[in-house]
Amino acid sequence: MVGARCEGARCEGARCEGARCARATRLRAALLTAVVISIVSGFSRTAFAQAGDLDPRIVKLVASVSEERLGVILKKLESFETRSSLSSTTSTTRGVGAARQWILDEMKSYSPKLQVSFDSYQVPPQGRITRNVELRNVLALLPGRSPRRIYVSGHYDTVARPGGQGASNAGGPPRDPDTPAAAPADPNAPLDNLAPGVNDDGSGTALAIELARIFSQSGIDFEATLVFMCHVGEEQGLIGARLHAQKAVAEKIPIEAVLNNDIVGNDRGGNGIVDGATIRVYSEGPEDSPSRELARFVQRWGARYVPSHKVRPMARPDRFGRGGDHSAYDQLGFTAVGFRESRENFTRQHDVRDTFEGISLPYLAQNARVNAAAAATLALAPPPPSVLSERNQPLITRAPSGYDANLKWNASPGAAAYRIFWREAWGPDWQHELLVGNVTNVVLPNMQVDDYVFGVAAVDAEGHESFVAAYVTPPRANTPIRSAQDHEH
Ligand SMILES: [Zn+2]
Repeated sequence: MVGARCEGARCEGARCEGARCARATRLRAALLTAVVISIVSGFSRTAFAQAGDLDPRIVKLVASVSEERLGVILKKLESFETRSSLSSTTSTTRGVGAARQWILDEMKSYSPKLQVSFDSYQVPPQGRITRNVELRNVLALLPGRSPRRIYVSGHYDTVARPGGQGASNAGGPPRDPDTPAAAPADPNAPLDNLAPGVNDDGSGTALAIELARIFSQSGIDFEATLVFMCHVGEEQGLIGARLHAQKAVAEKIPIEAVLNNDIVGNDRGGNGIVDGATIRVYSEGPEDSPSRELARFVQRWGARYVPSHKVRPMARPDRFGRGGDHSAYDQLGFTAVGFRESRENFTRQHDVRDTFEGISLPYLAQNARVNAAAAATLALAPPPPSVLSERNQPLITRAPSGYDANLKWNASPGAAAYRIFWREAWGPDWQHELLVGNVTNVVLPNMQVDDYVFGVAAVDAEGHESFVAAYVTPPRANTPIRSAQDHEH
């Protein structure tokens, strides 16, 4: 065994991703490949050397996001005046019925490769759903070679109420901030008040629609199936997303990752602070949950393909007291993150003032590029390897010396290599990485497993990388201890 630690001066205390460091890592990886257990032949190192870190097809895809197209979509969405899930469906120009039909037709026009459909549900009254209503998500599916699915999503429904989110934040009415101000006298009457929702969530909707266009017209043959999803019923309690996620569980639809975008088009805070250069990405914990690993992945690949835009992962499910559709997926066991603009203008949200004037198209386009880079990389990469045994235990031991880090994992279909990541067991970001060959076991001598978090990603022959699967000890069930006193009564 040789030491395989990434301990060069260039790597100390920094994420190990500089070009020089990457070369050093590859040299060490080549050395390590000679000594790791279970070497499998057939892995070509020259493929990586020639590919570099970026795939020119993804560079081109990211560059094809159009501010102009995003603007056209947003103005069209605004023209429906309301897209409330409880609004009228009879008009061809106003309300949720007209809006969903336009979204369907628009995505259908992009490419014959896109399978565009309504994902419909008959929903009886419950919670904030005041009457029987048919809810329709709009979904565009771009089939890949594998059924595993990568989602890019937003919600196209809107809501507006007196005072909007600004009044709620300022301590307004003492009730659930997402409850409508007053129930209509007739619960069966459509909720047709003006609710333009251009940022909430026309922005995420336009982003998903624009990515449906550029992905389906890219000519790239993706490994995973991509789904561009426009959810409905979000403002009534994530209803459209929850119904779809429930269906995915029941039908065993393999959703690998959900990139949900909700309020991502405004760079000007209501307090006057402007930030058009960063985007927040929220994810449910604990700290090495798959959703957190997806957030780290977005940060890593966003920084490479869109270095001018900073991804800020947030180690919490969402903002205080606020929710979004990514949580509907996370709660049912899927891996999901929520994109949120960095500086919100609450006075426009859930308000008639949520209009096109509140949008920064350059900012929305940058957020779309980060989504495109992450979704394309995921959809070209193998799935993340499982690092769990058949008994759901992490495949990490101290063997053979008793003081080593011995990492095993299950082979990922299509992988040509794996990349090991580690960091001190205190702190959010990976500090070190090491590319190894097409193996399913690595020993890092004298690395104390108790001191580091370890993870592994699958990499294909061109360098497309999955998100990381981390080695996490499952929580122990508490077994109450009986004492003698328990029996005295
Ligand atoms: Zn929203």
